[in-house]
Amino acid sequence: MKTKKVTSKKAARRRRMHCPYCGSPVIYRTADGIYKENAKRAMLFVCSRYPACNAYVRANKVTKKPIGTLADPSLRRLRNQAHRFFNRLYESGLMSKGEAYNWLSVLTGMPESMAHIGFMGEYNCRLIIDESKRLLKSQHISYWRGGKRYDSY
Ligand SMILES: [Zn+2]
Repeated sequence: MKTKKVTSKKAARRRRMHCPYCGSPVIYRTADGIYKENAKRAMLFVCSRYPACNAYVRANKVTKKPIGTLADPSLRRLRNQAHRFFNRLYESGLMSKGEAYNWLSVLTGMPESMAHIGFMGEYNCRLIIDESKRLLKSQHISYWRGGKRYDSY
């Protein structure tokens, strides 16, 4: 009984998240008022100092767990961009989705379970963008940038 109590306390402590930028507690809330439109009723983990500290991460709809770590506007932008280029690798048929995630894991040196763009910092995002771009270019596959389509050759 006593052991069980300690374990659940420990688990609770582990669940309590803090903002990586300012150290404030993180709250689970709807994206209303943060996303311009929230038609999909997204839920977020947001720094309790928002909007003074503009850091958040989307929650998985089913598990209600954060999809990665909290990100500020510049990291969010980089992650979006990295996602666009990375998705092109398998959407273009260059790799299967599994191969693409394996490539991501090797590239970043992160185990496959952690090799998701939501966990990446700025350095790895830039690496993913550059390397995806290079690969796509070498295969003469067009890619997207800033919502515009650019052909790579
Ligand atoms: Zn914060």
